[in-house]
Amino acid sequence: MGDGPDITSDAPLVLLSGGGGGARLAAGLSQALDERPLFVVTNTGDDFEHCGLTICPDTDSVLYAVSETIDSQRGWGRAEESWSVFEELKNVGGPDWFQLGDKDLALHLSRAAMLAAGQNLAGVAAALGERLGVPPHVAVVPATESPVRTHVVSEHGKMAFQEYFVAHRCTPVLRNVVYEGIGSASPADRLSDALEVVGAAGTDVVLGPSNPFLSLAPILGIPGMQGLLRRAARRVVAVSPIIGGRALKGPAGKIMSELGLEVSSAGWTRWMNEQYPGLVDVWVWDETDQAAAGNLRSESMDVRTTSTVMSDPGRARAFGDWLLGVCSSDY
Ligand code: GDP
Ligand code: CA
Repeated sequence: MGDGPDITSDAPLVLLSGGGGGARLAAGLSQALDERPLFVVTNTGDDFEHCGLTICPDTDSVLYAVSETIDSQRGWGRAEESWSVFEELKNVGGPDWFQLGDKDLALHLSRAAMLAAGQNLAGVAAALGERLGVPPHVAVVPATESPVRTHVVSEHGKMAFQEYFVAHRCTPVLRNVVYEGIGSASPADRLSDALEVVGAAGTDVVLGPSNPFLSLAPILGIPGMQGLLRRAARRVVAVSPIIGGRALKGPAGKIMSELGLEVSSAGWTRWMNEQYPGLVDVWVWDETDQAAAGNLRSESMDVRTTSTVMSDPGRARAFGDWLLGVCSSDY
């Protein structure tokens, strides 16, 4: 960037995230950024209605991760959770396929009350974030206010995402993934307002190591979202969720192979680049995969490697620091 005023210090960093690898990175970047604003744009395709409540699994995982209230062993839900209500729910014959801890349930009830009082999802996430202790420089913003509902299509027909993920434990072989409602969705105002103000002045966008089909696609497929990010971004950096030919957790690798893709960081890069032409500037792979980077580099793709495994908060923070270096480095 050379000399001159540092235009980047207050420009936000925008992270697109699901509830797993993305949420870990949100926590790491939150620490690494110190006071520079971080917008974590969360996937809403997993949102669903259960026991009369609106549940937003990825938004809540990010809220819990960034406020350090997440159960880090399990990787979802609240630390020091209790299960009294869920036990009694089962006793009285209520649905038991989706686990609800007491603290987690309190958050869903609070969201229900705020939604009933006329707040939108972004307002609810901001209020909950403040109560949980999300640092003031971090905004957790659901990608859109319009209902987008991910469904998977398998040999057994179409089913809602939670049914596939929780009730069927991802066993059906997928043919396709669809995002109902996405055609009439638009990016959250909170995000477009923030990005249109700063324009091209130093915003960086990171696509977290999130499931490309189940977490990133329902965000990037929102009409206007890619254009908004591309116009605002100095650089778009994407982190691979595939390490050493498999996903660290969850069905990303299984789905890639069922859709006929090579399960590798290279396969992920080629698919992303085909799906979102011109969106990503820098591809970040785990160092495990560095031998394969040469092929893509020879096709002029900017592939960088480092340790991307965020097995504890210290590693997530170190990876966040490294990513900030990539964002601010000159070409
Ligand atoms: P979900 O909403 O729970 O599916 O979570 P995400 O979509 O955000 O993340 C799922 C993906 O994160 C999986 O494909 C994992 O391979 C990946 N992942 C989880 N932890 C890590 C990590 O520490 N490093 C990297 N690079 N990927 C990770
Ligand atoms: Ca999810």
